[in-house]
Parts: sequence; structure tokens; C-alpha cells
Amino acid sequence: MNNLYNKTILIGREPGANRLLIAINVDGAVKLGTIGENDSVNRSVSRCRPGENMAHCMIEVSNTGAMKVVNINDANMTYVDGALIESKRVTADCKLELGCEKYPVKVKDILAVAKEIVLAKQEAKQERNAQSGAQTNANSKPKQADDADSFSIKGLEKVWNDHNADLKRLQKEQKRLGLIKGMYLPCTLVSSAVGFLASSLGSGVMFVSYFLYALAAVALFYGLYKTFTDNSLEVREKLNDEFIDNYSCPNPKCGHFMGNLPYKVLRQNKNCPYCRCKFTED
Ligand SMILES: [Zn+2]
Repeated sequence: MNNLYNKTILIGREPGANRLLIAINVDGAVKLGTIGENDSVNRSVSRCRPGENMAHCMIEVSNTGAMKVVNINDANMTYVDGALIESKRVTADCKLELGCEKYPVKVKDILAVAKEIVLAKQEAKQERNAQSGAQTNANSKPKQADDADSFSIKGLEKVWNDHNADLKRLQKEQKRLGLIKGMYLPCTLVSSAVGFLASSLGSGVMFVSYFLYALAAVALFYGLYKTFTDNSLEVREKLNDEFIDNYSCPNPKCGHFMGNLPYKVLRQNKNCPYCRCKFTED
């Protein structure tokens, strides 16, 4: 436990994989761990983005080991032992529930992962110190191996293309619906005109008039039905949400949303504007 003193543990949904992501800043470097399977954490749990210091909630450990859970954003929901909280003192035995669908997790399970992360970091540091202490070879440079990290953005091309195809499809659907709704007026006008002319042209023309009336009625009811059952706003919101989750820096320590930068531009930029990691296309 001592190694968690004075640390802040960020907790939230892992962008993309939707596991519970635990992030701790250890000596200026963000260390990550996860709990659960892919897609085990639903969207009512806010994303954990250590690069932006954002998460669903956090556990603050004081220099004496006292712990406090803090709900980071008003829109988030964090429960401690069944009660909705803004911030609350907790012990390892407390149970957290996150989001309106109440993803359950024990404080002690979060602490276990957090300890592992911090220990792994310390071991690596000791190893490095040992290495540089025993170092006789002038060519070895054990320091700052993290800085040269490069990550493939190949997967983002499909995310970008799929998202834009989805938006286009949505637009087309809206246009088609507009067209059908627009048929009502011309159909009624023409059918009235034809009905009027039928008196002089003969009763056969009346069928044309009835047909157009029927068509206008179909257009009217179809349009009304579609308007009442319209979920394009929700669909669009979900698409955007998924896009923000998936169109993000491939460096797991960053995961920053790339914004609406087209894939072509990402490719030209060659590195992440947030964490400066190198982009490759392997
Ligand atoms: Zn990045």
C-alpha cells in the first residue's frame, strides 16, 4: 500500500476495448492497467484519458494512506456502497458502481491493479539503474526508451472511411424521406385537377385521379410514420461516440481523439500532436 501514498488513480472506460482502465502517474509517466474483458464496461461509464487527465472517477490516496473517491464530472454517476456520491472517504472493502447501469468494482481490486502498475514501474527503474551502474559500454543508452515509441495508424484508415460512409448513408436516408414527404402536395394537386377534368374527359380518367389520391395518402402516412419513429439523431450520436472512441492515438498511454483530421492528414503529420509518438503505417 505504501507505494500508492500520494498518488491519484484515474478510473474509467478504456477507449476502443471498453474494459475498465486504471491509470496512475508514476514519476511523470502514465502507467496503465485494466480490469475485465473487452466490452465489459458500457457507455454510461466515461472514458479514461490519462493524457487529458480525464476519467469517470478517481481515487486519491493521501500521504497517510487515507483514500477518497471523487466523481470527476457532474454528468457521471459514481456510487459507493449503493449511495450516489460526489466525493467520499473509502476503505479497501468498499464497493464502487459506475454509470447509470452500475458497473460494479471493489476498491481493493482497483488497488491491486494500481499496486501492480506502480511496482512494475519501480522494478523497471531499478533494473535500469542497475544497468547504467554496471555500464561499461559507451554505446548503450538505457535512458528514455519510451520517447522513440512508434505506433501503427493503419487501423484508423478504416475507422475514418467507415465513419464517413455511415454519415453519407444517414444523409441519403434523410434525403429520400424528404422526397417521399414532398410527394404529398403534388399528388393531391394533380389528382384534384384530373378529377376536375374527368367531368369533360370521361369517367375513365377518374381512376387516374383516385390512384394519385391513394399515392398522396401513402406518402402522407409513410412520412408521418417515419417522422414519429425517426431515430436518426440517436444513430448520429452513437456514430459520433464510436468515432471518438476509435479514431484515437494508437499509443495506449495517450489515446487522445484525433479530432476531425482526415486520415490523409494524420499520415502526413507523421506524429501525434498530443503525445508526439511516431505514426507508422505498418
Ligand atoms: Zn498520442
